[in-house]
Amino acid sequence: MTEDEARQQLVDGMRALDARGLNRGTSGNLSVRFASGMFVTPSGVTPDRLTSDLMVFVDSDGSVAPGAARPSSEWQMHMGIYQRRADVNAVVHCHARHSTILACAHREIPPLHYMVAVSGGASVPVAPYATFGSEELAEGVVRTLDGRLACLMANHGLIALGPNMPMAMAIAEEIEEQAAVYCGTLAIGGPKLLGDDEMARILKAFGRYGQRLND
Ligand SMILES: [Zn+2]
Repeated sequence: MTEDEARQQLVDGMRALDARGLNRGTSGNLSVRFASGMFVTPSGVTPDRLTSDLMVFVDSDGSVAPGAARPSSEWQMHMGIYQRRADVNAVVHCHARHSTILACAHREIPPLHYMVAVSGGASVPVAPYATFGSEELAEGVVRTLDGRLACLMANHGLIALGPNMPMAMAIAEEIEEQAAVYCGTLAIGGPKLLGDDEMARILKAFGRYGQRLND
């Protein structure tokens, strides 16, 4: 991937989040791994005003080129993931409504539907609350992910990872859908959950599914 492609992926990704109703205004941020660091979306720019030259390269030591825009306040969370997850090349963070509703109630998404397994686990856990942009939040999210591709963030939102941006976006969109389905089932007495054995079978099958999506 060239630098221009990396920058453009972030512009397209932020607009796609907005267009799909997964995010609003200046909340949410995206990154892609690049060279020894990452490109991340800038802080406080609405999707309609984003241009590729505003995307910020942050090196592994946290340094930013002089004159660059201010990186997203959550850049440490993105960097912490790249430094501890060799399988991840793209990160999507957004405040999608149903995911955020569950996150505010500190309720994980249980194994209510086979598509929950796109998260890489039988359920989607909730990372502990910490102030936005803090190192504590970054550490809690990395710890909660524990090899998965998605988790909720208490009183905050959703984070999804992938080997590339299209996969990370698809996972974010699917987890938001599962969050919406779960909220719906809670209104009619709660879901009947799939068993551990069935989720293990689905996760095994999704290893191949993930590969295909990635092709
Ligand atoms: Zn956020």
